[in-house]
Amino acid sequence: MTYQDIISALSEAHIPSPRLEARLLVAAVCRINPNDVNATTSITPVQAKQLSTLLQQRIAHKPLDKIVGHREFYKYDFKVTEDVLSPRPDTEIMLEAALEIIKKQGLKSVADFGTGSGCILLSLLKEIPDLQGFGIDKSAAALRIAKQNAELLNVQNRSMFMQADWFVDDFSSILPQKVDLIVSNPPYIPSADVALLDDEVKRFDPLDALDGGEDGLQSYKKLAVISGGLMAANAYIILEIGIKQAQKVQSIFETCGFNCLKIIKDLAGIERCLIFVKK
Ligand code: GLN
Repeated sequence: MTYQDIISALSEAHIPSPRLEARLLVAAVCRINPNDVNATTSITPVQAKQLSTLLQQRIAHKPLDKIVGHREFYKYDFKVTEDVLSPRPDTEIMLEAALEIIKKQGLKSVADFGTGSGCILLSLLKEIPDLQGFGIDKSAAALRIAKQNAELLNVQNRSMFMQADWFVDDFSSILPQKVDLIVSNPPYIPSADVALLDDEVKRFDPLDALDGGEDGLQSYKKLAVISGGLMAANAYIILEIGIKQAQKVQSIFETCGFNCLKIIKDLAGIERCLIFVKK
């Protein structure tokens, strides 16, 4: 099993970016920097065997990050497993929007609803040294990963994680204080569309992090009702949204007493992030 064999196998299996992925697989197994992988990288027989196992998983559409167990998001590396939604580059849009508001308004606390791996919350804590963060998720398994990531990034002292389900639990008794900012990338795929997602997503990301109910908007409807009471005066809420959901989510939140400040598009030109302020 050579570097070239891996590239060929991935490209025959129609995996996009076979060279990049081969490089990342070899780097993970040989514990070297991906930039140092090339045709002359020495691969021991034991490593070749490991590589062949990982290659089979990738050909079976397991995403690369879930094979190697971690993924970069924004500036940091996060542990990921099948218990958490893989961090997506599109979500960096809301992260940047949140950073701008936190800095400009001097916000001191943030709650992340459906924190998953913790990639949004923990990146904010890393960037803003005096920020206090609360991560909530209904999945205990996801929270275990988020806590490990908090420790890996050394922000465990400013982060607190709580298990709760916004459709069931009373968040006002779960959050220890009112917060200056709520961020969320809730499940927003309409139930009927989940089956149409790529294998990588529908088989290896948790369904609970994707399925937004019949219209894809169920979580927004619930968050719009509960968020106001959890927010300090002049607090903000920043949400990731799915394709063609901007106007609907805007009106859901406006009906519940929020003003929409901004709609931000992703790099593909799709409206991807909404910012609201509590009236
Ligand atoms: N962006 C994810 C996807 O396309 C969905 C994440 C979500 O529902 N919040 O698969």
